[in-house]
Amino acid sequence: MKKLFLIIGAPGSGKTTDASIIAENNADKIVHYSTGDMLREEVASGSELGKEIDSYIKRGALVPLEIIVNTIVSAINNAPVDNVLIDGYPRSEEQMTAFDELVSKEDNIELASVIEVRVTEACARERILGRRAEAAPGEERSDDSEEVFNDRMNIYTEPLGAIQRFYTDKGLLTIINGERTLEEVVAEMEAFVLSKI
Ligand code: AMP
Repeated sequence: MKKLFLIIGAPGSGKTTDASIIAENNADKIVHYSTGDMLREEVASGSELGKEIDSYIKRGALVPLEIIVNTIVSAINNAPVDNVLIDGYPRSEEQMTAFDELVSKEDNIELASVIEVRVTEACARERILGRRAEAAPGEERSDDSEEVFNDRMNIYTEPLGAIQRFYTDKGLLTIINGERTLEEVVAEMEAFVLSKI
């Protein structure tokens, strides 16, 4: 049985960093996949699919439903251990519904929790634009400009209320304050995940 933890948060919330540290600390039982990283890997491969994905990422737009669902389904199926952290999903109501249908169809997948790493927009903005300023030449992300940040933030915020309500009603939503030190956020999230597996 695969146990899934979905981690959502604004761009700059730190969700990918938090989840990768937790997986590294518990490599024998937890694996982590970031939807953004998986999509960027496909772009880096130079494939036709990667070119299509890149046209969305550059603008800060969501890649189409079918592409993202295929990406996470293959990650779950290929996961080497049973506890899987996926960050960056769902980002829309249609993704949430598609995932719900998938989980109810599959006997070997259980959604253990949805963790929201919460930061204010001001904090997210400062971190993302700071990340750009500090990136080594050639290491900048194509989507870390202020304009694209605004679009990504709007896209994140727009379905958030519906996503929060849906998982709250199922008793699955956990909110973690992401405006603390990395160590504090990781400690709380790690203790929570370990308590559920
Ligand atoms: P991130 O690294 O999580 O900030 O994601 C970077 C970009 O990848 C996003 O702006 C989207 O273009 C794309 N992306 C990541 N996750 C998703 C998702 N769940 N659905 C659609 N597009 C996504």
